[in-house]
Amino acid sequence: MRADLVLAHGLVVNSSGTRQAHVVVHDGRVAALVDAAEPVPGAERVVDAAGRAILPGGVDGHCHVAQVTGRYRTLDDFAVTSTAALWGGTTTILDFGIPRDTSETPLEAAKNKIELARDSRCDVALHGSVIQWDETVPAQLEELAALGIRSVKLYMTNRGTTIADNDTVLKVLHEMVRLDGLAYVHAEHDAMVVDCTERSAEAGRIGIEHLHETRPNLVEEASVREVLAMAEYTGAPVYFVHQSTPGAVDLVTAARARGLDIHSETCPHYLVLDDGVYSSRFPEWFACCPPMRSPETVAALRRRFADGSIHTVSSDHSCYDLTQKRERKDDVRQMPHGLPGVETRMPVAFTALADAAGEHGTPSAGLLEHFAELFSTGPARINAVPGKGIIAPGYDADLVVFDPAETRTVSGGALHMGTDFSPFDGKELRGWPQVVVAGGRVVLDEEGFHDPGPVGRFTPRLGYREAASDNPRPAVRLAAAERI
Ligand SMILES: [Zn+2]
Repeated sequence: MRADLVLAHGLVVNSSGTRQAHVVVHDGRVAALVDAAEPVPGAERVVDAAGRAILPGGVDGHCHVAQVTGRYRTLDDFAVTSTAALWGGTTTILDFGIPRDTSETPLEAAKNKIELARDSRCDVALHGSVIQWDETVPAQLEELAALGIRSVKLYMTNRGTTIADNDTVLKVLHEMVRLDGLAYVHAEHDAMVVDCTERSAEAGRIGIEHLHETRPNLVEEASVREVLAMAEYTGAPVYFVHQSTPGAVDLVTAARARGLDIHSETCPHYLVLDDGVYSSRFPEWFACCPPMRSPETVAALRRRFADGSIHTVSSDHSCYDLTQKRERKDDVRQMPHGLPGVETRMPVAFTALADAAGEHGTPSAGLLEHFAELFSTGPARINAVPGKGIIAPGYDADLVVFDPAETRTVSGGALHMGTDFSPFDGKELRGWPQVVVAGGRVVLDEEGFHDPGPVGRFTPRLGYREAASDNPRPAVRLAAAERI
């Protein structure tokens, strides 16, 4: 066999360890790892990775593509989002089928996303979502599970659009136990959000420069407490999206110590931006919920990121442009919330992790392994996405050649997302992808981006406990991944 591709002489980084090796790729999968002391195996193409690290392709567990919320729709489609993802070293994205209101069913919302995902350049998996319980939901969730959609997003806030009431949340948690699924939860205490926002409005403090005052840390932590009680009552595994306070993360840590099956996700923006952005010249660049926190909160969150208390870093990518952001910046209740970030997740998260760990020179093997866990391996394992997150024979050839020393300054206009700004504009960040391989194809190298066309696959997920308990050979697991 002559291989399709070899990445030669790289430092191969898995979350379980590093080694100097040549990565041999054939038919879209990793065929072998050959010790770097051996000759480079023959191949159609050899990429020299000497002096650089090779990471498993990024898995972004939290992206919103073509999302409609109220009267706003995000501006990118799967072709654009997946292209930007690949530019940023992410080779698999997980999107959500969220009903736009109670007239759309969870099943309709998810099937619509499977259709739209046909344009994707990278692999795609999906979460479902339930916003209102009715007697048809159990059968719909069974059908979603059969399609490989094994998690359900629940919003504890967003009154009038995507909020699920507590009866719905409890019933869905029971269903996740029955169907071996995972609950994805946006935790903010809705009554407190509404009360605090109304009080701000009455005081004339409702423009974007006051966003952080309308949703204090306690609003998030109160909701995490409530959901943890429901997780304990039902026994359901729960994944908290975008945790932004150390208090919220510590509640997860304590729940895990009691034996609950709970995960903590944060997002790049909560690690490097603080609430000073709301008194900057362009506060509308930073409209998202939860909002940015105080500098002390950010510093404490970064310590949790570095000490392993946080399990994944996801972008929560939501692509609105400045016209949409500015239209109603006088009233945070009327603005579209969410930040573009699928392309910048790798350098923002790596820079934050290295800084929090106090590593400013050549990164240690331990730091690189931890980064692989947060960026790829953890999201692939927790979300039970087969064939992803590990560089080993039989796994998908999703690979990133990465130079942890390369520093670039972010220029929002030079990125590839469907918008005209980046909340990280002007930031100097370390650790950018230099070569990206997706499904065995080199899509990014020193010459630039090579559009592979709509080759992304819809990747059915396994059950949550099924993936955690069994250890099938990768080739068996991979049989589930089919072209859309
Ligand atoms: Zn989100």
